[in-house]
Amino acid sequence: MQFSQIIEQHKLINSLIDIAASNRVSHGQMFFGEEESKTFALALAFGQYLNCTNRKVFDKDESLIKEDSCGECPSCRKFSVLSHPDLHLVFPNAPTKKVETKNSSDSFIGEFREFVLQNNAIISLNDWYSFLDIGNKQGAINIRDANNIIRNLSITAYEAKYKIVIIWNADKLNYDAAPKLLKTLEEPFDNTIFFLITDNRENILPTILSRTQLIKVPIIEKKKEKESHYLPLFVLWIRHCFLFKTKFDSIVSFIEKEIIPLKREEEKQFLLLATKIFENTFYYNIGINRDSYMLENCDEKFKNNFPQFVNENNLEKIYKEIDKAILHIERNGNEKMIFFDLSVQLGILLTGK
Ligand SMILES: [Zn+2]
Repeated sequence: MQFSQIIEQHKLINSLIDIAASNRVSHGQMFFGEEESKTFALALAFGQYLNCTNRKVFDKDESLIKEDSCGECPSCRKFSVLSHPDLHLVFPNAPTKKVETKNSSDSFIGEFREFVLQNNAIISLNDWYSFLDIGNKQGAINIRDANNIIRNLSITAYEAKYKIVIIWNADKLNYDAAPKLLKTLEEPFDNTIFFLITDNRENILPTILSRTQLIKVPIIEKKKEKESHYLPLFVLWIRHCFLFKTKFDSIVSFIEKEIIPLKREEEKQFLLLATKIFENTFYYNIGINRDSYMLENCDEKFKNNFPQFVNENNLEKIYKEIDKAILHIERNGNEKMIFFDLSVQLGILLTGK
């Protein structure tokens, strides 16, 4: 998992990168946020980044992530399939038909890897329970899990710079397991980092909470429905932008027909999505995020032709024009004029003419 696969969280990612750069990575970190906020993916990407031997550094731009793991070095390759010997995964589990007693995370590590990879690390507890097929039973992180963590950390061959322990849904830690873990958090093993993940901070024991650095993961708004409507609109709009020199009229009628009926707030959402598509396209061009949701869902012809027009020379200027338009929409400017002006500017910036 690379940061570039979680670009919605670029602000938080950049602060994690800063923490790493100043060697202030705490050995116990609590990622607190909704499952949809991609907390697990973030912890995984941060672990991969910390151990990457060939990190990528990007140009400074506050709207993008500044660095990322390479995705290609031996450590990254093992992280990407969750098989790195210094990556330890702990998660709620329960007896199943296959493992009737003495169940622990280690009993289900194969299933968990499969589950995470299938879902691109955006995972929810209910889905995990269905995947594991535990029926009505409640999962927990039990004392065997706590013992295994300690045992695994003391015997594992030391391959990476950091050993990473991810405890997903740390609020499911049993009362008898917690004291064991607490001891490890108090007297950590060398170069070992614990990522505890929860969407339910109230259920974490205060003694554990006080030994971790809290990282609040902001909510990613659910916009998929809107996106599926705005994507084809974006494609249509950009096609009109390219014709700015010859077909003024068609730009105007596009705006009148498709944009003006939207509420101002929706126009803003549309432009924010446009920014994301430009950003994704740029990443796509420099060879990361090849499976970009945005581009994948545009039509074939657009997907093949559009990326060549987005580059490091025009990306920032495009952002500035869109920001300006959003500001004018917020200030109740004339929407028709705002979108017409923006369409011409984008036409110029994209074609370079
Ligand atoms: Zn790497």
